[in-house]
Amino acid sequence: EAQGQGQQGKSRLYTLMDTYMKNDVLSIQEDIVNHVEYTMARSRVNFDNFEAYQATAFSLRDRLIERWNDTQTWFKEKDPKRVYYLSMEFLMGRSLLNTLYNLDIKDAYTEALAELGYDLETLAEQERDAALGNGGLGRLAACFLDSMATLNLPAWGYGIRYQYGMFRQTINNGFQHEQPDYWLTFGNPWEIERLIVSYPIKFYGHVSVVNEDGKQIFRWNAGETVTAVAYDNPIPGFGTRNCINLRLWAAKPSKEFDLEAFNTGDYVAAILSKQRAETLSSVLYPDDRTYEGKELRLKQQHFFVSATIQDCVRRYRDAHPDSWDAFPEKVAFQLNDTHPTIAVAELMRVLMDEHRLGWTKSWDMCNKVFAFTNHTVLPEALERWPVALIEKLLPRHMQIIYDINWRFLQTVRNKYGDDWERISRMSIIEEQPSGEKVVRMAYLAVVASHTVNGVAAIHSEIIKDTIFKEFFDLWPQKFQNKTNGVTQRRWLAFCNPPLRNLITKKLGNDDWILHLDNLRALRTSADDAALQAEWRSVKQQAKVKAAALIHRLTGVKVNTNAMFDIQVKRIHEYKRQLLNVLGIIYRYDQIKKMTPAQKKNVVPRVCIIGGKAAPGYEMAKRIIKLICAVADKINGDPDVGDLLKLVFVPDYNVSTAEVLIPASELSQHISTAGTEASGTSNMKFQMNGSLIIGTLDGANVEIAQEVGDDNIFIFGAKAHEVQGLRAARAALRVDERFNHVVGMIRSGYFGWEDYFGPIMDAVTSGGDYYLVANDFPAYLDTQAKVDETYRDVAKWTRMSIMNTAGSGMFSTDRTIDQYAKEIWHAEPCPVPQPGAKANGV
Ligand code: PLP
Repeated sequence: EAQGQGQQGKSRLYTLMDTYMKNDVLSIQEDIVNHVEYTMARSRVNFDNFEAYQATAFSLRDRLIERWNDTQTWFKEKDPKRVYYLSMEFLMGRSLLNTLYNLDIKDAYTEALAELGYDLETLAEQERDAALGNGGLGRLAACFLDSMATLNLPAWGYGIRYQYGMFRQTINNGFQHEQPDYWLTFGNPWEIERLIVSYPIKFYGHVSVVNEDGKQIFRWNAGETVTAVAYDNPIPGFGTRNCINLRLWAAKPSKEFDLEAFNTGDYVAAILSKQRAETLSSVLYPDDRTYEGKELRLKQQHFFVSATIQDCVRRYRDAHPDSWDAFPEKVAFQLNDTHPTIAVAELMRVLMDEHRLGWTKSWDMCNKVFAFTNHTVLPEALERWPVALIEKLLPRHMQIIYDINWRFLQTVRNKYGDDWERISRMSIIEEQPSGEKVVRMAYLAVVASHTVNGVAAIHSEIIKDTIFKEFFDLWPQKFQNKTNGVTQRRWLAFCNPPLRNLITKKLGNDDWILHLDNLRALRTSADDAALQAEWRSVKQQAKVKAAALIHRLTGVKVNTNAMFDIQVKRIHEYKRQLLNVLGIIYRYDQIKKMTPAQKKNVVPRVCIIGGKAAPGYEMAKRIIKLICAVADKINGDPDVGDLLKLVFVPDYNVSTAEVLIPASELSQHISTAGTEASGTSNMKFQMNGSLIIGTLDGANVEIAQEVGDDNIFIFGAKAHEVQGLRAARAALRVDERFNHVVGMIRSGYFGWEDYFGPIMDAVTSGGDYYLVANDFPAYLDTQAKVDETYRDVAKWTRMSIMNTAGSGMFSTDRTIDQYAKEIWHAEPCPVPQPGAKANGV
């Protein structure tokens, strides 16, 4: 509450503020041109599309701030249990259209801008994607925020405001090149800089023990301190006034930092080292599902986690200055993968060393507030930080981790006795054969959390059987499943208006945008010829739009009457883009061998592949080159013409996804069974009426259950068979078709045979860890079934409708509702409708 306001001053303030911004066309226009003049200091009669976009965004930010303030004031007053979603990544994409739709003012803005001479869709294209994430994990966090706001949960996201987001991918002669994504070049009109909200973050130094009032107190004398400054990003809900917050931290030099150097005269060096502080939050690591023990990455983790813990503890203390007792009833932290796990040690440190709570009480609270989501079982992704590095960077945290481990291993020993093998297997500290000791961050997260969840049913079973097996034996009650989802606002209603309108017309209302299960009602009309015709026309519109994008990005003109077959996701061996491209080569070779009469029976296809490879992931980069080399050959071959095209779409990101996904007729989710924890693009495709060809992996399993086996193309080894197949692969007979395709590549049919050699080596001669050779025959047979089905237009359309109709459970509204009820035990806290403000609330 502001200081110095008497009752009279306060009521004057309320009369000044008792109206909200108006959303009639004229008011909107005034707001926009005022921002052009007063915020951007441009002439209100002369501004270009980019400036118009910025002014529009600023005017929307004003409207978001009203809701944000009302929501946060309301939360403060009601003091509900808060949920804090801690994530190194938030892959937000663009905000303009999402804000307009969620605030239900798109039509007014469209008209307001049109009268000023601007086209809203064109302005929307001016916005840079906020690409503060790698892929699925970061996009999931973004969809979660949308659902948390929409469900009125008192939740906040916490992360890092990277200056450089995910790199921009360009393709040069078929090779990936990485360009820096300095997305803040022209400012970010959506964020609110809060220089006041800042915390010191400590690194390095040493720990001393001091005696205070007869108690031993650990004091961390840091060697380096940087400041974390808050940037707030309002997240509006749909169909509610609630607007939650995504607080992203940026590193700034600390005031206390290196004063010593000033005093000793090395002024310039001191300033330069201040600059170093900012590099901490400057760049997102572009490695998806791989772990690299880079010191800067650990610094980033501690940086954002420490700022977050300090912020949340401060908020709790403001409301409860006298007691810690309510802390577990007021706070829930969700750890998005192990990346924020150092939060466990940080909270222990804050409670014990700064607030003087004892170990038992601090640990008890930790166990009640933390929950952990596991996102992968790939060994190369599991974080293991060297003890020596943590000791150097965060000496007090390392002591605390040792203590946690010691007490945990007592528990193990109490239960299982002196089973030293087991104790060493379960230890948070692992001693590697080299003698190096590392901290298994996943184990730390499991030990400290009250709940551990996987992200799809099959994945949650796999973690109980494999990476966390002995923890499951010890604490079966800790383990849950929370199948991922996607927000149907961004991924259907907003990115695919023709389909939204058709569904709304068919269902008689648009309640499904909040209750996605309502789509189920489409099932009874799946055979309706009139609906089918409209359904196909909607798909056709999306294909035309996607074809224009493809042409703009690649220069290739594709036939919009061909089947659009899409695989877009990070390039990874386990995702098996290789299986896709080998299948395409086989198809190409078949077409080449056909007589003109046979060609008449071919189902024309446009194969679209897109995705980024981690810059250091050699094999993935070779696969991109292979896709591009095959594309060059096919697209230039008059023998195939429009029967087959292959395009590699560069720089796949949220905005391209929003165009490609609605246009998809077939999409590929073909990871080796047991490797893809969930996948979320599969849900987006399904929702938009794309059929799926996929393995029984991740959420594909549940999608198959929801749509029925007749409406999905499943093939390949099952998860439980993979280990046996791997062991036997050297002895397996390889399909002739596979050998032929590999032979084509090896013989230089697509050029670059030496460069492609390692790719081929990895899938032949008993290699084939991801079972590409093993699954190839089943894949081809299933693709043949796809073609046959596509020829039956009514059947295909029916299946497409059944996919959309069966996508209800894959809304993040369902996922978040389950997290809230079953993990966080948090209740919705809806903000009253306007009017309350004038009454002084
Ligand atoms: N990248 C972007 C831009 C996405 O929108 C998504 C999800 O749809 C992903 C990556 C993750 O895709 P997948 O689940 O196929 O790995």
